Amino acid sequence: MGFDVDNFVTTVGVDLRCELCRGVLDNPIRTTCSHIFCSGCILPWVVRTGKCPRGCQRLTPGDLGNDLQLRDCILNLSVHCEFRDRGCRRLVRLREIGTHRAECDHRPLPCTNEDCKLVLSFRDLEKHVTGDCPYKEVGVCPRGCGLVLRQGSAGTHDCVPALRAYIAGQENKINTMETELQRARHSATAREQELTNQIHALRRENQSQALDHRRKLDDLSDRIQKRDIKHKNAATVGFTSFVYIHGIKPRCLIISTCPFFGF
Ligand SMILES: [Zn+2]
Ligand SMILES: [Zn+2]
Ligand SMILES: [Zn+2]
Ligand SMILES: [Zn+2]
Ligand SMILES: [Zn+2]
Repeated sequence: MGFDVDNFVTTVGVDLRCELCRGVLDNPIRTTCSHIFCSGCILPWVVRTGKCPRGCQRLTPGDLGNDLQLRDCILNLSVHCEFRDRGCRRLVRLREIGTHRAECDHRPLPCTNEDCKLVLSFRDLEKHVTGDCPYKEVGVCPRGCGLVLRQGSAGTHDCVPALRAYIAGQENKINTMETELQRARHSATAREQELTNQIHALRRENQSQALDHRRKLDDLSDRIQKRDIKHKNAATVGFTSFVYIHGIKPRCLIISTCPFFGF
């Protein structure tokens, strides 16, 4: 799948775009008919259809080759940071976008205070977590209920309703965990059954193969025995008949494995 054309600083010409996904070529691949597509677009296409998307000729995966020069040229193009709408104005080369994404000051991160659902830019995170986050812990209730007070609700804290809410929250968590446990047990049982079935099927197959091999072995030794008897008789006949006809040298002409063959 190609890169989003709107992220590039300058207009990208059609010669650098993939006809299959319309994006800017990602890891360009050239066909033997000289057409270019992203590797992620053309490989499955060729495997599925066996031809060039332009319809010009039949293709196999062996007819596709990396265009490293073109890849290099595309990786040198400048793109906007993907967190542009969060305020990042940086322009970076496409080949450096991964590194920038990992260290961009505007990358989104969730607040680390429990129960806070806010997502902030990296550069604002610390100030929020340790400063104005309403879920920041500000100590334990001094009136003895033992609950941890949060910045946003410490001023209105009332021990009894707060304890009730805390207990309800804990019960909720227990219920959720029990449901998850049941689901995990169920899928483990299903998996165990599936493995048992596979083991039984393998055992049956092994037994049938062993029987088959035994049958073949019996058949083979039977044939070897019969051949040995036939050979012994035939060698005797050949030897005898040669002696009778020529009266000189014994010679077996019947079976090549006979020690008298060719003599
Ligand atoms: Zn593509
Ligand atoms: Zn083609
Ligand atoms: Zn950025
Ligand atoms: Zn927060
Ligand atoms: Zn309290």
